[in-house]
Amino acid sequence: MSLDREGLEGLWDELSIVEDWMRGGIRRDRSKPDFAAIAASRAAGEAAAETAARATVVAASGPASAISGSPDGNAGARTGPRADAMPASIPAADRVRFLATLSREAGICLACRLQAGRKKVVFGTGVECPLVLVVGEGPGAEEDAQGLPFVGPAGQLLDKMLAAIGVSRETNAYIANVVKCRPPANRDPAPDEVKACSAWLERQVEILSPRAILCLGRTAIQALTGQSEGITKLHGRWFEYRGIPLIGTFHPSAILRDEAWKRPAWEDLKLLRDKLGDVLLP
Ligand code: URA
Repeated sequence: MSLDREGLEGLWDELSIVEDWMRGGIRRDRSKPDFAAIAASRAAGEAAAETAARATVVAASGPASAISGSPDGNAGARTGPRADAMPASIPAADRVRFLATLSREAGICLACRLQAGRKKVVFGTGVECPLVLVVGEGPGAEEDAQGLPFVGPAGQLLDKMLAAIGVSRETNAYIANVVKCRPPANRDPAPDEVKACSAWLERQVEILSPRAILCLGRTAIQALTGQSEGITKLHGRWFEYRGIPLIGTFHPSAILRDEAWKRPAWEDLKLLRDKLGDVLLP
């Protein structure tokens, strides 16, 4: 892990307070090292190493790869993904690494108030080259405790729904949420929380480049389509998110509360299955 100027300065502050405490007092004069110069010289060293690494990626994947950030970079707390790490399209072989880096960055995100109550950031899970990206609303208690999406009762139903069309998180899907931290008492995420978290999901979509996106419930479909109607109006219709076909259905929690949504959800899943066509196993 390499620290940027802010990170170095924060670490220095913390360590010097500990040092003062061990010496039994606070020093009046705490002249700081020149962190700007230290960070600049480190950045220059890292840039050289990165250029060498990127040359290998470009050679393997053709010209004009826009990968510009160190995939292993990490520094201090985050409020969103690094702006300089925006890849145009990620070769399958690099996706695991990019997802791991993004997950680490999201794991220290302080962009909204949800960070205060979380136990774990729930980044997402599944395969790195998914046919389907499934997007839920946000973690519940079980997900918050385990750091994994859809592991409670709604998750068990979701797995069954997906299995019915030949989709699973183990083989051909990735599962993520609109917000990565649990809203208190499972309330709906507030619009500013959805906005603060949106860059993580955007970046996940870019890295994963799924064939289709399945939104579960109102929050997810509204967040990804910009529509304002509820899921009863929006489900079963095709939209696009950044050129990727997107469809919404009822959230498994809603189906658990009211079985009446099961039939329309099944019709929606069949539309998804038809769209994916013969790339899905029978
Ligand atoms: N509900 C969601 O929307 N996401 C989860 O991860 C779990 C329950």
